[in-house]
Parts: sequence; structure tokens; C-alpha cells
Amino acid sequence: MEETNNKPAVIRGRFSVKRKEYLTPHYIRVVLEGEALQEFAHVTIGMNNKIFIPGQDPDAPMIRRTYTLRALDLDAGEMWVDFVAHGDEGPASAWAINAVKGDVIEIGMKDKSAALYPAVDWYLLAGDHTALPVISVILETLPATAEGTAIIQVTGEEDILPLQTPSKVQIKWIYGEGHTDRMLEAVANVILPATKSRYVFTAAEASVIKNLRTYFTETGIQREELAAYAYWKKGTAEGN
Ligand SMILES: Cc1cc2nc3c(=O)[nH]c(=O)nc-3n(C[C@H](O)[C@H](O)[C@H](O)COP(=O)(O)OP(=O)(O)OC[C@H]3O[C@@H](n4cnc5c(N)ncnc54)[C@H](O)[C@@H]3O)c2cc1C
Repeated sequence: MEETNNKPAVIRGRFSVKRKEYLTPHYIRVVLEGEALQEFAHVTIGMNNKIFIPGQDPDAPMIRRTYTLRALDLDAGEMWVDFVAHGDEGPASAWAINAVKGDVIEIGMKDKSAALYPAVDWYLLAGDHTALPVISVILETLPATAEGTAIIQVTGEEDILPLQTPSKVQIKWIYGEGHTDRMLEAVANVILPATKSRYVFTAAEASVIKNLRTYFTETGIQREELAAYAYWKKGTAEGN
């Protein structure tokens, strides 16, 4: 791994679509392949990446968006990125909806391995459809002893995915568009254990995250126990 000033190097490579699958009506898995794959051997699955989508014509700049490395299989030569299909108004969503085998995209990531989450007794994982990739990875990798609750908000029942976890974390699905108060209501129903080590991971629409931050502060969750990320903002394109 090359590092300058202790900052991890950024790796960026060109990939093409190997196959594409609608996992649910609003959730598309794009499986990428390319020679650059081996350069990503040291990254942590579940970490965020940058995707670079080609512009409309060859001279147009590429459009950058933030996604999640859902899976990496060096033997199979595959990288997975799961896209919420939220319509054609976003270039990334539109790209995934229209992608066909052979389409090209670039992926960038920090060249580093790091723990995706701390080791604690109890977890609350609360996210909307955009956080489904990272929450899926967390659930898959938690130890069998881990307890807690995962609350995932998707558009409707047709968007439920069979998630795998060796842990005792209970998975609860809630429905509706991401920017409603339903997430806050569901989170407020979870009893936060006072005597266990805890970690709250939450990622969703910006206004939902603002309300959740306030709620967790009021309920005594400490700063080091909370990771809260705005993954998108209603009415605003990423980077604006
Ligand atoms: C660390 C991180 C990891 C992320 N990982 C993933 C991931 O793995 N998969 C994934 O699908 N998303 C992920 N996101 C969210 C994704 O970056 C945003 O949804 C992004 O705005 C999508 O880009 P776009 O070009 O489709 O839309 P943009 O051009 O950014 O936005 C266009 C319009 O679409 C709206 N919009 C954007 N996203 C959504 C949405 N999800 N639902 C409804 N309306 C929306 C915006 O409000 C805006 O009005 C992640 C975000 C972060 C910060």
C-alpha cells in the first residue's frame, strides 16, 4: 500500500458490467469485472467508494457519486455495487437502471483495511434503502454473540431481501419513502440496553439523520457509540 503523509493512497480503476440483477423492484445489483480488480485486494468490504459515471459525450466530465463496496471476490473476478433504483433524475440511479453487459464505469477507493464497526455487545443498525449494502455487510460479519436490532426502511414489502447474519441481531423492515419520520418512530421503540457496550450505526436521508442525532443525544447515547451519516438529501443532487 502506497501512502503519502500517512494518508492512504486512492486507487481508481476501470470496470465493465459483467451482469446486472434486480434483487427487488427498487434494488439493482451490478456485478463489475476488470483488470483493476486485483488493486482493490486490501480494501474493506462495506466501505464506501466513489463511482465515476461517463458523461453524455466523450468530452463531458465523469459524474462522481458515493456508493458502497457490497462484495469483492478476487477469485471470481467480481466486484458488487448495489444501487437503489430511485428513478432517472439521478445519473447514478439512471446509469444502473439502463446498464447492460459491457458498460464501463470507474471505481475509486482508499487503499486501506479498517474495521467497519467496533466490537461491542449490542448493535442498533438503522438505515434506509441506501444503507442496505453496508448494513448487509455488517450483519454478515457480526459474531454469533452480537445482539441488537437492525431497522431497514425500504419502499414496500416487495423490497424485502433475505439477509444473512450469524448474530442474534433481530431484523425489522419498515416501509415508505426515506425522508419520513417512520425511522425515528421505529428507533424510538427500541430499548437501548444500559449495561452493555453499544454501537449505533445509522445512515439515511439528511433530515432523518438530523432527527435521529437529536434523539440519540437526548437518550444518552455517547458520541463514541454513534455513527450517523446523511447518505442523500431530498431534492438535492450529491455534491450540490
Ligand atoms: C457513504 C455512502 C454510501 C452510499 N452507498 C450507497 C449504496 O451502496 N447504494 C445506493 O443506492 N446509494 C448509496 N448511497 C447514496 C447515494 O450516494 C445517493 O443516493 C446519491 O444521491 C445517488 O446519486 P444519483 O446520481 O442517483 O442521484 P443525485 O443526482 O445525487 O440526486 C438526484 C435526485 O435524486 C434524489 N435522490 C438521491 N438518492 C435518492 C434515493 N436513494 N432515493 C430517492 N431519491 C434520491 C435527490 O434528492 C435528488 O433530488 C451512499 C451514500 C453515501 C454517503
